[in-house]
Amino acid sequence: MATVPIFSSGGLKTFVGNPPENPTSPSIYRPLSYRRLRISAAKTSPKLTGRNLRVVVVGGGPAGGSAAEVLAKGGIETYVIERKLDNCKPCGGAIPLCMVEEFDLPLDIIDRRVTKMKMISPSNVAVDIGRTLKPDEYIGMLRREVLDAYLRERAAGAGATVINGLFTKMDLPVDANAPYTIHYNEFTGVGGVGEKRTMEVDAVIGADGANSRVAKSIGAGDYDYAIAFQERIRIPEDKMVYYEDLAEMYVGDDVSPDFYGWVFPKCDHVAVGTGTVTHKGEIKKFQSATRLRAKDKILGGKIIRVEAHPIPEHPRPKRVAGRVALVGDAAGYVTKCSGEGIYFAAKSGRMCAEALVEGSEMGKRMVEEGDLRKYLEKWDKQYWSTYKVLDILQKVFYRSNPAREAFVEMCADEYVQKMTFDSYLYKRVVPGNPLEDLKLAINTIGSLVRANALRKEMNKISV
Ligand SMILES: Cc1cc2nc3c(=O)[nH]c(=O)nc-3n(C[C@H](O)[C@H](O)[C@H](O)COP(=O)(O)OP(=O)(O)OC[C@H]3O[C@@H](n4cnc5c(N)ncnc54)[C@H](O)[C@@H]3O)c2cc1C
Repeated sequence: MATVPIFSSGGLKTFVGNPPENPTSPSIYRPLSYRRLRISAAKTSPKLTGRNLRVVVVGGGPAGGSAAEVLAKGGIETYVIERKLDNCKPCGGAIPLCMVEEFDLPLDIIDRRVTKMKMISPSNVAVDIGRTLKPDEYIGMLRREVLDAYLRERAAGAGATVINGLFTKMDLPVDANAPYTIHYNEFTGVGGVGEKRTMEVDAVIGADGANSRVAKSIGAGDYDYAIAFQERIRIPEDKMVYYEDLAEMYVGDDVSPDFYGWVFPKCDHVAVGTGTVTHKGEIKKFQSATRLRAKDKILGGKIIRVEAHPIPEHPRPKRVAGRVALVGDAAGYVTKCSGEGIYFAAKSGRMCAEALVEGSEMGKRMVEEGDLRKYLEKWDKQYWSTYKVLDILQKVFYRSNPAREAFVEMCADEYVQKMTFDSYLYKRVVPGNPLEDLKLAINTIGSLVRANALRKEMNKISV
C-alpha cells in the first residue's frame, strides 16, 4: 500500500536547488500537512486501483493545452499549471491549414487568412509565392493569447484542472512507481508571488516553453537558440488594406545574418519581427532594418507592443527521462528556416499524451519510461527528415546575400511554390513530379552557381 498526497499548502518546507538524485530520506521532501489519498499496490503492481493515473502538464501553451485535452479525454486525472492565463506569447502567430483541421479550431479565432506571401530579396526583388494556392487554402494568422486560451479551455471542458501557478521545481521519485513531487506557487489573488503548494503525480509533461524548468529538473541539456524580436505595430486603416490577406518575408544581411524578417497581419495591426542565432547582440539593429525595408507600407504606424523570446534551434539532448517527457519548445521542436513551432508544439503535446493514455490503458495502470519513449519514436519517425531538410536549406540559402538572391529567384518557380506550400500547409511529404524535380535541380544548381559567381565578384570589390 502506498499513500499519495495530493494538493497541499501551508507548513511546507522549501528547498533551494535541485533535489538529490537519490535522496536517502525521501520523507524530508514531503510536507506533513497533506490531504492523503490512499491507493493500492502502485509500488508493487503496475495496475492502479481506487484512482486513475495522475499527470501534470506544466505550461498551458499550444503544447500543454493539446496534451491536457487528450489526457483528460483518455481517462487520466489531469492538471495543467500555467503561470499566466492571459499570456500573450511573443509570436508571429502563423499556422498551417492542417492545424485548423486536425485540431478542429473554430474559424473565428483566426484573425486573417493569408493567401499571398511576398518573399523579398536583399536587393528588394519581391516574388509572390502564393500563386499556386487553391481557393480554399490559406495560412492562418492568429493571436496567441486567443489560441492558447481556447485550447486550455477545451482541455478544461474535457475534465482537466487548470491551475494558475508557477512551477518552481520537482522532486524525483525514490523508486520505480513512486510519485514525482511538483512544487508550484498558486496565484489565488491579484498580484503577489502566490501560495506555495505541492502535488504528487505519476507522470509529468514539460510543456513550459524554451526556458523550461521541467527540462532543467531532469537534466535534459541545452540547445542553441535564436533570439526573436517582434513589434506589434498599429498602422493606418488604408495601409492595413494592403496586408488584408498578405504577409511578407524579408531576407538579407541587413535584416538577419541567418534568419528572416517578417511582416505578418493580425486583426488590427501587423507584427514586424526578425531573429538571429549568431548575432544576438545586434537584434535591435536587425529589427530597425526590417522596419526600414517595410517603411512605405507601415508609414504612420504606432508601436503598441515590443516583445522578444528565444526560439530553440534543435531538440534537447534528452527529451524523456523516467516518467517525464518534454514537448513543444521545451523539447526543441521548432523548424529551421521558417521558425515554425506552434503546430509542432500542439502535435507533440498530443502525441505524448496519446502515448500516456495508451501506455496506461486509459489511466488504469502505472506508466514507465518505455511508454513515453514510444512518443519519441513516433515523433522522430514522422518529423526527423523535415527538420533535416530545413536545416540544410537554411545552411545553403541563408548564408550570404547572393545565396538569398538565388533563393528568392527559385521561389518564383511555380513548382517550388507548390511543393513548399503543400508541405507547409499539410505537413506531409508531397510526391514530386520527376521531370519537374530534374528541372528544379538544374535551376537550383544554376541559381547557386550564379550566386557563387556573384559572391566572388562582391568579394573582389570589397577587397
Ligand atoms: C517572436 C516569435 C515569433 C514566432 N512566430 C511563429 C509563427 O509565426 N508561427 C509558428 O508556428 N511559430 C512561431 N514561433 C514559435 C512558437 O511561438 C513556439 O514554437 C510555440 O509557442 C511553442 O509552443 P509551446 O506550447 O511549446 O511553448 P510556449 O508557447 O512558450 O508555452 C509555454 C507556456 O508555459 C508557461 N510556462 C513557462 N514556464 C512556466 C512555469 N515555470 N510554470 C508555469 N507555466 C510556465 C508559459 O506561460 C507559456 O504559456 C515564434 C516564436 C517567436 C519567439
